[in-house]
Amino acid sequence: MSTPRRKANSAPKANETSIRDVTADNVPGGRKATGLNALKNNPTQTPCETPYRPYMKACDYATKTVYFIRPDCKSWSCKPCAARRAQVWRVYADFGGDALLAQGLELSFVTVTSHRLVRSVTAGVAVWRKAWPKLSARWRRASPGVQYLSVSERGKVGNFHTHLITTATLPTRWYKDNGASTGLGYQAKAVPIVDSFECGGYVTKYLTKAIAIHNWPKYWRRVNTSRNWPKPEETETPYDWTNLGADILRVKFSITTYARLGWTIETSLEGLDTSQVQAT
Ligand SMILES: [Zn+2]
Repeated sequence: MSTPRRKANSAPKANETSIRDVTADNVPGGRKATGLNALKNNPTQTPCETPYRPYMKACDYATKTVYFIRPDCKSWSCKPCAARRAQVWRVYADFGGDALLAQGLELSFVTVTSHRLVRSVTAGVAVWRKAWPKLSARWRRASPGVQYLSVSERGKVGNFHTHLITTATLPTRWYKDNGASTGLGYQAKAVPIVDSFECGGYVTKYLTKAIAIHNWPKYWRRVNTSRNWPKPEETETPYDWTNLGADILRVKFSITTYARLGWTIETSLEGLDTSQVQAT
């Protein structure tokens, strides 16, 4: 009794049955995720465009609730997911900037360019990977405990450069001299930050440009932070998740089974964050 599967090479239909359609009537409304989770799991935003994403299942035996969700691919190569990731990084930039300024630290925007003769993303990243460890070692010696959030970008003529929000207070001159002598470009700039709200805008501006490029090398982090860059606390789901694969028929079968057993079916995680929900 094999079930017909859609051919692996057929194009995904625009109106492909989503898990939301399957049990829309069973979804209790009201409880909404808050903060960063709301941003990440907002179902009203453009859905992820990656087909054949797996469905995930988790059981809460105490309340006899079963969750069926289909997480976004969260890839930079998927437009809606890239836009959401950029928004999340905006939050990280603002949050971190606020926290560091509140600690009495100074912040600067710094731009470091790759070698001026580098005209492709691949070459730019290769040069950066070689030069950055040297520059960063000098940087840490000159600014002990330095913290940063970095965004890499490719300019109009292919010139690769990296923007940093950092607690280092070194002058432009330092970046020019040390950039050039570690294999990067002589073009560099350091500008003090006055308000933390500038941080988010700065990151968004360069990330939006970076998203438009699709040929970034694999395993290249176009946005990165120092380990201790302050980040907001995120609530984790308390369940063990099972990967059901991308087959909707298998998911529908599982849903039917749980429904027959009298379980509550949830198809989103909106109900999970109960910290802001009033007791009734
Ligand atoms: Zn996606």
